[in-house]
Amino acid sequence: MSRRLGALMLAVALVGIAACGSSTTASRDALRALAVKATTTTVAPSPPTTAPACANPEASLRPGPLPAPGALPAGSFMSAIRQRGRLIVGVDQNTLLFGYLNPASGHIEGFDIDMLRQVAKAIFGDDGQNQETHLQFVAISAAQRIPFVQSGQVDIVADTMTINCAREVVVSFSSVYFKAGQRILVRDNSDIKSSADLGGKRTCAAAGSTSISNVVDVSKTHAQSPAIPVQVTDWTDCLVALQSGTIDAVSTDDTILAGLKAQDPHTKLVGDKFTDEPYGMAINLSHPEFVRFVNGVLERVRADGTWTAIWNRWLGPGTAPAPPAASYRD
Ligand code: GLU
Repeated sequence: MSRRLGALMLAVALVGIAACGSSTTASRDALRALAVKATTTTVAPSPPTTAPACANPEASLRPGPLPAPGALPAGSFMSAIRQRGRLIVGVDQNTLLFGYLNPASGHIEGFDIDMLRQVAKAIFGDDGQNQETHLQFVAISAAQRIPFVQSGQVDIVADTMTINCAREVVVSFSSVYFKAGQRILVRDNSDIKSSADLGGKRTCAAAGSTSISNVVDVSKTHAQSPAIPVQVTDWTDCLVALQSGTIDAVSTDDTILAGLKAQDPHTKLVGDKFTDEPYGMAINLSHPEFVRFVNGVLERVRADGTWTAIWNRWLGPGTAPAPPAASYRD
């Protein structure tokens, strides 16, 4: 398949996405997103983020016993969500395997989505309704994750989101539910082999992600000149830019790159992981009881084999490692 055909197929898939799910909020947002012309801009390296001291960003709030869906504490955020009848979730719709609007089914699906399903199940139980009716998807970009949690437009975000000290000042995180790491995706004829070769190369990542500043940091240490960061809205914008030759590399989490590679066989993943990206679900700072509740759900999901089943479903049957261990600060 030629690269141009690859790009065309992606474009066709995107049109399919637009056509298939017109009844959901997610697909309305998909249509809105498609209406916005993807712009590829070269940005100056961002200044180093002065993250506040935080000994262990992965340490979250310890869960108590998980209440039954019908016995959620009165006045709690979980109880309010149950009364509303819907858990409003911020998700990606462009990341194959993690949060992806499947053009064939019209449903958003992936590892992150299945994690959110577990939270919805703990709030609503098996009340005879399809769990899908209790989830309201809001498709957001990487840069929208924090503002949407802060403003209360979504109850929770599960979107390949790295837990770090800087973000913990503005949102709360659940315990870790996935451990990713940053790598590099290039065209299959590229001679870039690792982050050491990114000096002077146009390297694409989504705005609002940790990925661009990681690229600049690592290329500074290995190469004579830093990488040239190119910022886009969504990860699939990076793939189209790679296919059209306007960038040299995409660099982000191995999870996201695996999905992009699956969408274009004329690409290859190179180099080792050069960062740790522990994923957590983000929740508004004003709902610590909901953080503890979600952590209780994650405890159950790790212990009863659900986490392993979700891994095997999305990332390859029989390939699941042990679930990442939770750590707590209280
Ligand atoms: N995990 C990184 C982050 O949270 C990159 C992935 C993304 O932005 O979706 O910024």
